[in-house]
Amino acid sequence: MDTTTMETLDSRLSAEERLMIEAVESLAAARIEPRAAEIDRTNAYPWDIKDLLAEQGVLMMPFPAKYGGVGASELAFAYAVEAVARVSMTSSLILAMQQLGALPILLGGSEEQTRRYLPPLASGEWLVAYGLTEPGAGSDISAIRTRAERQGDHYVLTGGKQFITNAGLAHVNVIFAVTDPARGANGGISAFIVESDTPGFRVGKIEDTMGIRGSQNGELLLDGCVAPLANRIGQEGDGYQLALATFDRARVGIGAQAVGVARGAFDYAVQYARQRVQFGKPIAEHEGIQFLIADLATQIDAARLLVHQAAIRLDDHAPTAAATRATAMAKLFASDVAMHVTTEAVQLLGGYGYTREYPVERMMRDAKITQIYEGTTQMQRLTIARAILETTAA
Ligand SMILES: Cc1cc2nc3c(=O)[nH]c(=O)nc-3n(C[C@H](O)[C@H](O)[C@H](O)COP(=O)(O)OP(=O)(O)OC[C@H]3O[C@@H](n4cnc5c(N)ncnc54)[C@H](O)[C@@H]3O)c2cc1C
Repeated sequence: MDTTTMETLDSRLSAEERLMIEAVESLAAARIEPRAAEIDRTNAYPWDIKDLLAEQGVLMMPFPAKYGGVGASELAFAYAVEAVARVSMTSSLILAMQQLGALPILLGGSEEQTRRYLPPLASGEWLVAYGLTEPGAGSDISAIRTRAERQGDHYVLTGGKQFITNAGLAHVNVIFAVTDPARGANGGISAFIVESDTPGFRVGKIEDTMGIRGSQNGELLLDGCVAPLANRIGQEGDGYQLALATFDRARVGIGAQAVGVARGAFDYAVQYARQRVQFGKPIAEHEGIQFLIADLATQIDAARLLVHQAAIRLDDHAPTAAATRATAMAKLFASDVAMHVTTEAVQLLGGYGYTREYPVERMMRDAKITQIYEGTTQMQRLTIARAILETTAA
């Protein structure tokens, strides 16, 4: 199967978006793919790739023009993330993270906040971190313990965040904290912008992860960190809804990452199967391998359609429940497909697939995180079921 992105380019994309996606595909092939194995091996954040994505305007895609972005559609953004993830999933996280971290500011920020923070994020001058998860609060956001206590014209933040992407790299950190413990998650949590040079803010342990090597994930620690009122995003108590609205959009990017890494592994495995000879003929000529190729290709296309459908729901401003359902389905299905396809790609390469000389084992390790971050597969199922049950009559 020829799985080149442009083959299925959707007619909804503008001419500029098509050109942008072609440019991202070229960059991915010429500049990012040659770095992918090295990034994984050295586990060093790829500043050169971040700069490349910034210089070429790719990081501008999820930002509106008035904040220095290009205001690309969610669909175009999904194509771009997929194209980068196909060759290097950790590099695609640079793009996906810039959207995730900026979304609370974009969705709920004041005029002053959007004008100060979004342009340097769109240009790539600053990186951003999204601090929600804590040691005791992963899937269960309501278990957050980081406190933000109001004292006159400012809040004092105390607590800690865990597994935060861009920890120690970001200039801007969006921190979710409890402002009113009596009100529970919905109404009791608020989001704050904390710049990394704020006294009382520091970075703790950096994790040694299975995949997406080169991304930096770790603890953010807040010890009496002062956030002026002007740094609260939206009204006090808006944090929970803001986190949900952010995930509703950002899940499309993770679905696109999953499709990208699945395509990367699949394309590599198919080429390998054409060349590897066993029992006197290329293994691609054995029917058992052909069935596998057919199944994997079908699953990738189905995942991609779900991701594109979710992106289109967002672009069309679908009602929240419809968008939530579509984006959660896309992430759930695409991440399971990514794990399955990359695992089968390793199998298709046999012993060679298990070695670090071939890219498929890296892709398999990278794929796993798509089933975990921004809501595990189990949480996506709960989200989908709730969206259905809330919108259907008893
Ligand atoms: C590399 C990496 C990067 C990350 N980046 C960020 C980031 O930038 N910002 C951020 O805020 N967070 C980030 N995270 C955190 C991530 O979102 C959480 O790890 C994830 O939401 C799961 O939370 P947990 O790890 O605490 O698992 P838990 O919530 O403890 O879940 C453990 C298991 O139980 C299952 N489970 C939990 N509740 C239920 C239930 N009700 N029904 C059925 N099954 C259930 C889960 O699906 C999972 O399989 C990152 C994580 C990693 C590993």
